[in-house]
Amino acid sequence: MNIVERVRQTALEQPARRAYHFLGSDTTYGEFEQKVSQFAYALQRLGVEKGDHVALLLGNTPHFLISLYATMRIGATAIPINPMYTQDEVTYIIRNGDVKAVIALDMLLPFVEIGVKALPQVETYIVCETTADTGEKFNSLSIAAKEKTYLFSQLLASATSSADPVELDDDDVAVILYTSGTTGYPKGAMLSHRNLYSNARDVGHFLGMTPDDRVIATLPVFHVFALTVVVNAPLLQGATVLLAPRFSPSEIYELAGSQKATVFAGVPTMYNFLYQFEGNVENFSNLRLAVSGGAPLPVQVLNDFEEKFKVRVSEGYGLSEASPVTCFNPLDRERKAGSIGTSISNVENKVVDEYGNEVPVGQVGELIVRGPNVMKGYYKMPEETANAIRDGWLYTGDLAKKDEEGYFFIVDRKKDMIIVGGFNVYPREVEEVLFSHPNVIEAAVVGFPDPNLGEAVHAYVVLKDNSISEEELRQYCAQHVVKYKVPKVIEILDELPKNSTGKILRRSLKELQKTKS
Ligand code: AMP
Repeated sequence: MNIVERVRQTALEQPARRAYHFLGSDTTYGEFEQKVSQFAYALQRLGVEKGDHVALLLGNTPHFLISLYATMRIGATAIPINPMYTQDEVTYIIRNGDVKAVIALDMLLPFVEIGVKALPQVETYIVCETTADTGEKFNSLSIAAKEKTYLFSQLLASATSSADPVELDDDDVAVILYTSGTTGYPKGAMLSHRNLYSNARDVGHFLGMTPDDRVIATLPVFHVFALTVVVNAPLLQGATVLLAPRFSPSEIYELAGSQKATVFAGVPTMYNFLYQFEGNVENFSNLRLAVSGGAPLPVQVLNDFEEKFKVRVSEGYGLSEASPVTCFNPLDRERKAGSIGTSISNVENKVVDEYGNEVPVGQVGELIVRGPNVMKGYYKMPEETANAIRDGWLYTGDLAKKDEEGYFFIVDRKKDMIIVGGFNVYPREVEEVLFSHPNVIEAAVVGFPDPNLGEAVHAYVVLKDNSISEEELRQYCAQHVVKYKVPKVIEILDELPKNSTGKILRRSLKELQKTKS
């Protein structure tokens, strides 16, 4: 079984069910299946074959769902890319990923013009209309670009037949995800149909998803968290995906109310924004579950959100290489604040020392993962693959500990640990302290070189108002943590640099330090 076939079955059995909702209009499973099949046919006519790579430079619109499922339907591999990436970043992925066809938002038409010259291996561009003047802009493309470029809507309308059936093997690569740029240069994690199907199924079961669920999809769909948790898992269960084209608290309040949303999934910053926004919390009265992942959810934010919205927040953990989810806080047992929960079914999590041996309960080590969700490897990078997957276990690079009841706690990323005069400081611990101060909205802690101690702790914070000074905040930290963990420097910023999936860009903070010193 694979996700494409499962969705096709739902369309055959329950064609009138709502597959997704977008800007006030609904699309049923029957209609979705028809669009997927027609678009798959159009891709085949354009020469896209089994094993080819198709880049998706798309946002949270139906184009993404149709393109993704059509690409997988014909046995090709989809490479979702953040459409806001710079030209250099996109070019790198298209070259490294041997992309043959690109499906892009209309705002990327200038990129198409450049790509036609700079990326000869791309045979086809398909442009998705999101504004009324796309046709006009399309007409002003050069002749060379026009020869390779098609409009999404026209392709769909002219595809009068269904795609030729293609046999899909569980081991075929369904998607390649270039992992977030916070950790070195991007590597393409190859996820097979088995990987995607098993994780969407196991996440769906763990979160108790049913066909009656209406799941808000505001996380960016090109990222693995959204792909599995708010796209594939609900579609696998025959539930409804509520596509939100962007994250705006007022629009999420509106969507939750008008569509009686039952599940929300977001990164910690979204929880912060929704909590701060002054809207009608009654709009969330149908919400049965909110899930957080992608970055640590500060305990203070979790507690505040639960209290305000009267809903359980379940934090989980994952990474692109594991399709992504490995842990979630269980629904039928206690949810522990600050914990990523327990292993989801079929997935094993273990905390190990530097030799790969499991460490005792409560001790910190590296989190490693095994299961049907673990990627096949990094595309064209055997060395990196061998380093990441050893003896069948994926080494996550995250430091964690486990308690007696099997709940895991992420301590920090291995490479973010700060060593102050020989003592380990986990930035997260200091960030939690800063967060617990009522005036702090956001906090990030990084290490910086110190002539005496090797490294020192440097904190960046965003405040509600300026009624507290850096020195007062330092004193507050000193009441909660041992001296060497107290930030030597605290700097107040208007906002923290983050990537589109809410991860704080520590690299940018370190660059900020450098420019100042
Ligand atoms: P990505 O591959 O972009 O999904 O990034 C995966 C990384 O995000 C993990 O290796 C973790 O460092 C981080 N991450 C994801 N979920 C959590 C969480 N709940 N708590 C802490 N870190 C997380």
